[in-house]
Amino acid sequence: MAKAEWNVQAGNSDRQIPATTGAVPLKWASDASTGAPRYIHDPDIVSQAAGAVCPGCGSKLWTVLAGQPQRVRPTAHFRHVAGTPRTACVVVAARLAASHHLASLGYIDLPRRRVTAVSKGFSGEGYEGWVEEPAQRVRISEVRMVDLAAAELTLDDGRTILVDLTGKRVEGEAGRAVITINLSDPALAEMDVDELRARLRLLPPARWCSHWRDRELTTEARTQAVDMARQALDAWSDEDEARFQAQLPPGMDPDATATMRRETLLHRTVKSILEDARRIQAPGLHAAVQRDAPDGYGDGWYDHRVEVLWWSAPAELRFEAVELERRLGRIVPDVVGHLAEPRPRILGGIATRVQRGDDEEEDEQHDEFPAHWSETVLIEVAVTHKVDEEKLRKVRHLDLPTLEIDLGAMGGRLTQDGLRRLVVDGLEGKRWLHHPTLRTQRALLRYKLREHAEVLAYQAYIRAHRRERLLETLPSLWAERYLQALRAFCDANIRIERLRKTEGPRYLEHLDEDSEEWAEVALAAEALEAHGFEGGVERVFARTIVPRILSIQLNTGVGYAVSSAIEVLNAIMNTRSDNSTQWLSLYLIAAKSFDVERHFRPEQVQRFRKWRAEVVGQIEAEAPEYLRPARFDAILSLLFPAMARGIAHGKGRAD
Ligand SMILES: [Zn+2]
Repeated sequence: MAKAEWNVQAGNSDRQIPATTGAVPLKWASDASTGAPRYIHDPDIVSQAAGAVCPGCGSKLWTVLAGQPQRVRPTAHFRHVAGTPRTACVVVAARLAASHHLASLGYIDLPRRRVTAVSKGFSGEGYEGWVEEPAQRVRISEVRMVDLAAAELTLDDGRTILVDLTGKRVEGEAGRAVITINLSDPALAEMDVDELRARLRLLPPARWCSHWRDRELTTEARTQAVDMARQALDAWSDEDEARFQAQLPPGMDPDATATMRRETLLHRTVKSILEDARRIQAPGLHAAVQRDAPDGYGDGWYDHRVEVLWWSAPAELRFEAVELERRLGRIVPDVVGHLAEPRPRILGGIATRVQRGDDEEEDEQHDEFPAHWSETVLIEVAVTHKVDEEKLRKVRHLDLPTLEIDLGAMGGRLTQDGLRRLVVDGLEGKRWLHHPTLRTQRALLRYKLREHAEVLAYQAYIRAHRRERLLETLPSLWAERYLQALRAFCDANIRIERLRKTEGPRYLEHLDEDSEEWAEVALAAEALEAHGFEGGVERVFARTIVPRILSIQLNTGVGYAVSSAIEVLNAIMNTRSDNSTQWLSLYLIAAKSFDVERHFRPEQVQRFRKWRAEVVGQIEAEAPEYLRPARFDAILSLLFPAMARGIAHGKGRAD
């Protein structure tokens, strides 16, 4: 006969009482008067001193071959009056027998109870805490069938456990221990006393549904999870939360507040790390400018390039004080560090690299006058997003060294120690968002590059080779392009002028002759010169004479932050310097050619005419300071055809 297996599952079972293929003989029953389990070969059953009832359906049972254990076909069993027992009756009988023998065994091995809890950090990451009540063997003093599916064990120490014999119970009962053991196999009902005992000893750990200490264990696990989140700098204390809530504007998006919490916490942690360490490893500075040779330069096959670089080594900065989120001008930097005296110097070097085909030549030298670090260094801590364009603009405006530490570069979970290493000693994730020394060094490098003999040779080559191409375009088209480019250059400078008034003059510099805008002007001037119209790049011409004439022509300010011709003429009328009066005849010609008076109010006309009469008087008297050199006459006649007749007339010209 195949031995039936105890089917004890560590897990939830949704097994119904299975249908068996053949009839399982019912070998266990309840004593009709005491309810205690009786085996078919029990002497009292054999002698019929005790009556038997079915523990499943409660009906009276007959015995078949009781006391004859050797008989096999059929084997001894209890028989229902109606005939074959229902499967359910068999299973219930098996449970009754098993729980009875659990009591006679005297102990049960309780499985370990493990409780886990998850705490979600500000970053959204989950932190798991867990506690475990170890497995233990406990003594059983009493077993009582509560119903057809459950037995209650009373332990030596008085605690009770409900054993759910179906192995199906999911929810625990509050404050009560419940374990599940799946005893739903009808084959159990066939086993005799010894077999059952042997099986019970082998009983693998059953599964807990609820445990006496669940509430404490859960609290412990939760505390542990919160601690882990805190150690990963992803959660904070209740007091911190209360303080945070107090200053939170109402109606904020929960995701945004979670990000704010994390940023606040990390900023505070970085600050306290720096306060404690009072030093930081700062990355070196690096600036480079380069110029490639024009196509066809040299032998035309290899790269030619000049590069000028400046760099400084990483440096350790020592702080005297560290402040968190203190307003500075128009921004609130995450951390403001005040450097301890004496402040170190920024030790750098300059290298010039000249590449001529395969040949490379490098010349390196140290800074002769290294600058000192400024008193204040700003530190931006990037948590979820880096400094945006708006803040960067304000940072540039402050013109203080600003270091970004990108905590995203750490990867994985943060720890206090890991963060300290990154912030204090690391270079990874750090970069300079702005540094005044870089700004000045770049200007110096650009100058060095421009003056470099090789670059000057590039320029000469370009001019020589461009001439032919420039001549292919008509001078009138170059004239148009020149005026457009000059207007763009002047307008850009006026915009900068306006910004300087609102933003302060610290970093905004006027466009100069190394700007792209000026390069356009210079190109058109070069083309005009190739066509025989000289003077386009001369400073007085490009910066004063042409902008003034354009202002008169267009009745607006070109190169002046005004909006009408009269305002520009006012400026001209009020200028009294010897080398400016020589060009006045040109403005009079422009005023007449473009009929500027039509834009004036009567009193403006009157004032202008009075001034004009004075100037004309001086010109007719041939006062030398009122007579203009002739060198711009040709180019002006081309640029402003309406003025050509007036210029050709020769009035006011010194010759
Ligand atoms: Zn029955």
